[in-house]
Amino acid sequence: MSANETAERYFTQAAEVMGLSHNMRALMLTPLREVKVQIALEMDDGQIATYIGFRIQHDSSRGPMKGGLRYHPQVDEDEVLALASLMTWKTAVVNIPYGGAKGGIAIDPSKVSAREIERITRKFVDQIHEVIGPDKDIPAPDMGTNAQTMAWIMNQYEKYHGFNPACVTGKPVELHGADGREEATGRGVGIITQAILKRLDRPVKGDTIAIQGFGNVGSHAASILHEMGAKIVAVSDQFGGIYDPAGLNIPALIQHATASGAVNDFPGSKNISNAELLAIEADVLIPAALGGVLTAENANDVRAKIIIEAANNPTTSEADAIFEKKGIIVVPDILANAGGVTVSYFEWVQNRQHFKWELSEVRKRLEKIMTESFDRVWKIGVEKKIPLRTAAYVLGIGRVGRATVLAGI
Ligand code: NAD
Repeated sequence: MSANETAERYFTQAAEVMGLSHNMRALMLTPLREVKVQIALEMDDGQIATYIGFRIQHDSSRGPMKGGLRYHPQVDEDEVLALASLMTWKTAVVNIPYGGAKGGIAIDPSKVSAREIERITRKFVDQIHEVIGPDKDIPAPDMGTNAQTMAWIMNQYEKYHGFNPACVTGKPVELHGADGREEATGRGVGIITQAILKRLDRPVKGDTIAIQGFGNVGSHAASILHEMGAKIVAVSDQFGGIYDPAGLNIPALIQHATASGAVNDFPGSKNISNAELLAIEADVLIPAALGGVLTAENANDVRAKIIIEAANNPTTSEADAIFEKKGIIVVPDILANAGGVTVSYFEWVQNRQHFKWELSEVRKRLEKIMTESFDRVWKIGVEKKIPLRTAAYVLGIGRVGRATVLAGI
């Protein structure tokens, strides 16, 4: 099943619960605009290379569209569409005034130079600058992109449209970025993990956690959960994983991974594979890397009791059904990783007001939005006797549907 088929299936499960008409389903599933552009450039060695860039704008009924930009070899149109629709439901779940979009370029950033990545990014902006902007569609970092990429996007966009820092979020703090944006998704994952453990009458302290992916989201989630007293027993990245049942020293691991470029061979831990990580003995499993990693083939091996979807679309619908049958609670991506877009919203607000918030203010408001959204989704789940994923979709689709109807078709 493709990424977009999975996303549509999750939408349909909620649409059934809501009794949504077929006409409304068709309207809400059909993207507003799909842009596919050629990015051709001369590489450092003089060869000509051609890449394809996508920006898919799914829905704008609640405000300007918002979504990350991914640089990864597996990027394709189907995946970008799935991720764009997730952004629509996600911004609605946390009730920030945005629609949903996503972009991507099928490229392995580790195989090209920094100068080449810069030129690719600028060429992409040349191709799409008319359809993005602070009141239209605001990109942000995702896998393979970071604050530097966002700085290039802002600079290139401003060559056409003048001073416009709110045209992109996740910028460096020295260049109109917001304090707390880089850690936001991982911090939000930590807040949501704490919220669900509290609902289940379990203290975070001493709970065991395994995290797949140790990039922006995975490493920040590990840090905050470590600070909360949880035991992070296993983490992994694209090169493999590590395991220590006594709990990993996360600050030391971050130093090790930064210095060596990978988590494996961390002193005192045992090297494991990514497949072993997903099946490790832990209370909570946090996929924080790629989509589609929890499948019908490995779902029965998962031993965690709670899955927090820090990555986008990590669970196929077949695996989701297995987890439901096994009584494993899944906190869905459109709630669990919404901390990033929430602080992106704070950055956009600050840029538009030309007024900088303190980090403590950002963290306080993030915590409020994440815990209130969790409580609302939990309540819908309990009242309607549906899994948290369906409950989150019911909340998001309901808000988008009402905005669509109120504005008039
Ligand atoms: P990143 O590029 O900073 O890190 C990705 C991590 O995944 C790296 O540690 C990489 O080594 C690892 N990885 C890659 N391929 C892997 C594989 N096959 N097996 C195991 N690990 C692998 O990306 P990120 O920003 O941390 O994003 C991670 C996930 O979180 C993505 O699904 C992204 O869409 C989602 N997300 C990110 C944000 C954000 O603010 N960055 C917001 C919401 C959701």
